[in-house]
Amino acid sequence: MTAPTQILQQVFGFSHFRQPQEKIIQTLVSGKDALVLMPTGGGKSLCYQIPAIARDGCGIVISPLIALMQDQVNAMRLLGVSAAFLNSTQQADEVRAIEQQLRAGVIDLLYIAPERLIQSRTMQLLKEIELALFAIDEAHCVSQWGHDFRADYLQLTLLQEVFPEVPRIALTATADSRTQKEIVERLHLGDAERFIAGFDRPNIRYRIGVKHNAKQQLLKLLNAEHQGDSGIIYCLSRKKTEDIAAWLSEQGFKAYAYHAGLSTELRSRHQAMFLRDEAVIIVATIAFGMGIDKPDVRFVAHLDLPKTIESYYQETGRAGRDGEPATAWMIYGLQDVIKLRQMMANSEGNDSHRRAEQYRLNAMLGLCEITTCRRQALLTYFGDELKEACRNCDICLDPPETWDGSEAARKALSTAFRTEQRFGVNHLIEVLRGTNSDKIFQYGHNNLPVYGIGQALNNNQWRSVFRQLVARGYMSVDLERFGALRLEEKCRPLLRGEETISLRKDVRSTTAREQTKVQLAREVDIALWEALRECRRSYAAELGVPPYVVFHDTTLQEMCLRLPQTMEEFSELSGVGERKLERYGPAFVNIINRHLAA
Ligand code: ADP
Ligand code: ZN
Repeated sequence: MTAPTQILQQVFGFSHFRQPQEKIIQTLVSGKDALVLMPTGGGKSLCYQIPAIARDGCGIVISPLIALMQDQVNAMRLLGVSAAFLNSTQQADEVRAIEQQLRAGVIDLLYIAPERLIQSRTMQLLKEIELALFAIDEAHCVSQWGHDFRADYLQLTLLQEVFPEVPRIALTATADSRTQKEIVERLHLGDAERFIAGFDRPNIRYRIGVKHNAKQQLLKLLNAEHQGDSGIIYCLSRKKTEDIAAWLSEQGFKAYAYHAGLSTELRSRHQAMFLRDEAVIIVATIAFGMGIDKPDVRFVAHLDLPKTIESYYQETGRAGRDGEPATAWMIYGLQDVIKLRQMMANSEGNDSHRRAEQYRLNAMLGLCEITTCRRQALLTYFGDELKEACRNCDICLDPPETWDGSEAARKALSTAFRTEQRFGVNHLIEVLRGTNSDKIFQYGHNNLPVYGIGQALNNNQWRSVFRQLVARGYMSVDLERFGALRLEEKCRPLLRGEETISLRKDVRSTTAREQTKVQLAREVDIALWEALRECRRSYAAELGVPPYVVFHDTTLQEMCLRLPQTMEEFSELSGVGERKLERYGPAFVNIINRHLAA
């Protein structure tokens, strides 16, 4: 049997394992089960690919993502690994050919969807061949508590019953302890070794700002920091994804919408473009992204607030899987807070379910409004710990100022109280600022003692006060009266002057602070960088795979920095294994030599 480290170096071209990878691989190689929790981009795939190669027989990878199987198999083949997939998109003769190869024992990795796996024909086939392992990817799909439940996954208990000798590995990026418990129960993994990797993604810069003009703010981000990059923009509604995509196209970006309401064909076309082309932006609802393992997504932008920190972390985790600097950027405003609070209050389900939702939303809003390191807060939420502030989030880089908002908050609360808690934020601000409007006179609000007591703050400042009061639970949104703000118990001590409140000062423009994004290659030598990219593009086109399957950006950047002039030097680059060295080494080395001679 080839040693795992040797496979890592010769096949994958990586010099060393990341944190828990080696132990996980040893566990499987020695025939035991494993449960793996690792953040998106943490490097889960190697954990089953290497043992599947190392052990005798074929490794079966169960994944719900049929659309990605072809890409996964192509990527394996480029590394010289014999891989195949079985799913409903194939013709009968293709299936037969793969079955033959499986029986002949020449396939190391087989990707298969759960519904296909449990068919009796497939089970029969698996009984006839030697099996290295079962890898259950996206294992949280087995959990009804989780957000991606799939009934087919429940049948996977069969594996242990029919193949008790074959080691199983279940993998997920969902950390939630309840989901974890369900995975263990439903997949019978009580004896599995558990590996829980740190959840930090240090290369992602988290930034959360206040929304004032979403489109312009987005445009500024793209122009100042992400020209020519691939990215994902999340919005809550289907219509909005289409509007934003159309608008970005007008601005000269390659942007496409993605949501559950589009035809399957259009969705897969957009997804394919995102994977294959460079600098493509997908504007999506949450329907997009699961299992997309494009490593070079440079930014994830949220134009609407996600409902939970879990979703936020999962979505932002799609940025920067290659470990290079990436941006997680979000803007939100009072309307988002109100909308989510309303959705929550309207939601179905019993009280305890509602309380859980409420708790999660509060945590999300809390993350938005905090004035300390965002990464520390995120990791704490997931039960992980970061001792020092991260220096790579907006708060660490640009600490927000706070001000004593007690007086302003009292005025805001009193105004809602005096107007009988029947009005929305716009009207309350008119009262505070002493505006002369028809509505004010109609209700006689100009006669209230609070009328005009808030001249010292402008409109935006008042919105900021109200947003923070709602986000922090001092006020709530009345459902019966659309958008009316009500007082909550929590505000009593504040109103009585027994408590003070510190509010954050919203900065109007998120200035692109000294961008530390090291665009090494482009700074080093743009001509060489472009020549290497062109070479990569033509190989990718020839093979019908996305460019990153040929080489990651990281490998290209290393080429620019280290300028390998011989095959031996080239073999030392990260991401260059034996097969890729042999196939692409000469062409790239040639470009570098020509470049140096020019
Ligand atoms: P996950 O499935 O956990 O989201 P992947 O398996 O797709 O993550 O890995 C993320 C990226 O990290 C991939 O591009 C992969 O090639 C790279 N990677 C994984 N392990 C290593 C390693 N030991 N050294 C260098 N790169 C690695
Ligand atoms: Zn920080």
